[in-house]
Amino acid sequence: MTASPKRIVLAARPHGEPKPSDFRLEDYAMPELGEGQVLLRTIWLSLDPYMRGRMNDAASYSAPVAIDAVMEGGTVCEVMASNSDAVAKGDLVLAHSGWQTYSVVDGNILRKIDPSLGPISTGIGILGMPGMTAYTGLLDIGQPKAGETVVVAAASGAVGSAVGQIAMIKGARAVGIAGGKEKCDYVKNELGFSDCLDHRDPDFAAKLKAACPDGIDVYFENVGGEVFEAVFPLLNFFARIPVCGLIASYSDTADTTPKWAGKMMRTILTKRLTFRGFIVSDFAGRRGDFLRDMSVWVKEGKVKYKEFVTEGLDSAPEAFMGLLKGKNFGKQLVRVGPDKV
Ligand code: NDP
Repeated sequence: MTASPKRIVLAARPHGEPKPSDFRLEDYAMPELGEGQVLLRTIWLSLDPYMRGRMNDAASYSAPVAIDAVMEGGTVCEVMASNSDAVAKGDLVLAHSGWQTYSVVDGNILRKIDPSLGPISTGIGILGMPGMTAYTGLLDIGQPKAGETVVVAAASGAVGSAVGQIAMIKGARAVGIAGGKEKCDYVKNELGFSDCLDHRDPDFAAKLKAACPDGIDVYFENVGGEVFEAVFPLLNFFARIPVCGLIASYSDTADTTPKWAGKMMRTILTKRLTFRGFIVSDFAGRRGDFLRDMSVWVKEGKVKYKEFVTEGLDSAPEAFMGLLKGKNFGKQLVRVGPDKV
């Protein structure tokens, strides 16, 4: 019925940065459909920074991927066969079926995609998990007010680009941080942020200070590390810091982890800062609000998005390693299969 299915499994746990030998591409036999199950063909695979954490055998908010198991990931899929009342053959669905061309999953955990909202790839981008992360983290935790300064790093990326644009919709001033001139120009000129600073510039900290003359009221934390060290002294009293991600340290080992948490905690106390870590699933109840607002903002051009696509499942390991180093320019997607076969 179909070409031989392919998948990418976790071959070894990385120490530090992941490398190609930590992944393995393999063929596998198509499993039989059981009661209530569906066969999915993967069209789009989302690559996301959280996957780095899943490669470690360490306690986190989610279980690690086992050695020799399929790398996990959000997908846009076509239903090829269904033994479920929930979805029918031909439906397009959001799944979490991982780095593989075909999968068999329970039909009742799938979410149908509404193609009238936008291109189907946006279901794992601006109208999906990254967009919702920006929306809920900024609005529910950051709570930006008109005239305030909102700073976000990884500002050309899937989450950061949406954070700054939502901040502007709410009347705040958005300042971005990104890696390199091309990304900074995009953030300023196309997305309309007031400013964008290159975190690799030797004068980055001074330039960030100059770009935030009234200090920082909301810092949406995507990165941590040296970027956070530059942001930290600029935080205003009662600043809000949604702690979304710390990509700068995802591949840290015991030797490279900075040891200044004690000093930082003292400032959190004295400035009464609100730091709140969150995982997007904490705000599952806001999905309806998010889709209502974001789909309108995207249609009206108030929120723009950029996709960074690599072709074919076998491109996923290199694309993922690049994502951790800023090689992506926009939401990192893998085109696993055509929209229709
Ligand atoms: P992006 O599309 O922004 O891609 C990651 C970007 O991170 C890179 O392009 C790079 O951009 C930047 N980066 C990598 N290393 C560094 C570094 N050392 N210093 C500064 N910037 C760096 O990814 P997402 O938008 O998908 O994710 C952004 C963050 O949000 C991540 O930390 C992720 O883990 C987190 N997240 C958290 C969720 C939650 O539920 N809490 C859900 C989704 C995402 P540049 O070239 O500009 O430096």
